[in-house]
Amino acid sequence: MNQTENTAIVLRHANYRDNDRMLTLLSPTRGRIDAMLRNCRKPRSHNLNAGELFALGDYMLYESGGHVTVTSVHLIETFYPLRNDYDRLTCGIYLLNLAEAVAEPEQAEQELFMLLLHTLSRLTFSDQAQKPLLAGFLLHFSACQGFKPRLNHCTCCGRTLPEEGPFFFGSEEGGVLCADCRTRKDQQPLAAAELRWMRGALASGSASWVDTPEAYAPLAILRDYVERRLNRRIRSVPRTGG
Ligand SMILES: [Zn+2]
Repeated sequence: MNQTENTAIVLRHANYRDNDRMLTLLSPTRGRIDAMLRNCRKPRSHNLNAGELFALGDYMLYESGGHVTVTSVHLIETFYPLRNDYDRLTCGIYLLNLAEAVAEPEQAEQELFMLLLHTLSRLTFSDQAQKPLLAGFLLHFSACQGFKPRLNHCTCCGRTLPEEGPFFFGSEEGGVLCADCRTRKDQQPLAAAELRWMRGALASGSASWVDTPEAYAPLAILRDYVERRLNRRIRSVPRTGG
């Protein structure tokens, strides 16, 4: 018997046979786990909710011959209210897709796991605006995946950036550029308030990603940066009203 208990969240599911589902789980200690959940689609199955996206629980897994089967689940949270708001649901699925894009089997993802839970909780249970939530997630996601953008010195020439710009963001270069180093149109202009927001959001952990007129979240720039680094476009495009 090779049975283990794993706290994990469901990133993806695919229906299998009449009543089963293949789950893609994210575990903080083991990274991605693909596991079969049997009979979860029967109407009165007690595992109905454990096979849904966002389900967070303690999954008891039985592993044999390269196959993993869920034997029981203690469900902790379903993030159910997300389903009542289409835009927030789409954002949530986008976060799951980002996590799935980087999760590898047997590769611990403690930081990513906590970032995902914190962000999903705020998306579900607070009325915080989606745009800074998503942008904050993307910024911290890049940090925990090892490609935090450079924000204090020009990524090309290394000089300290001037107080009020002009600034540009180079997705390929991995950070902010000074005006002298901008050579291409895809190095997008970055407002001083956007640079302030990114510095603040990185410094403040996950506590306070909010938009203000003085500091606002450059969501489009961060999406482009992260998706280029991952070398793929992430499905489920969130609408955030700007
Ligand atoms: Zn420069």
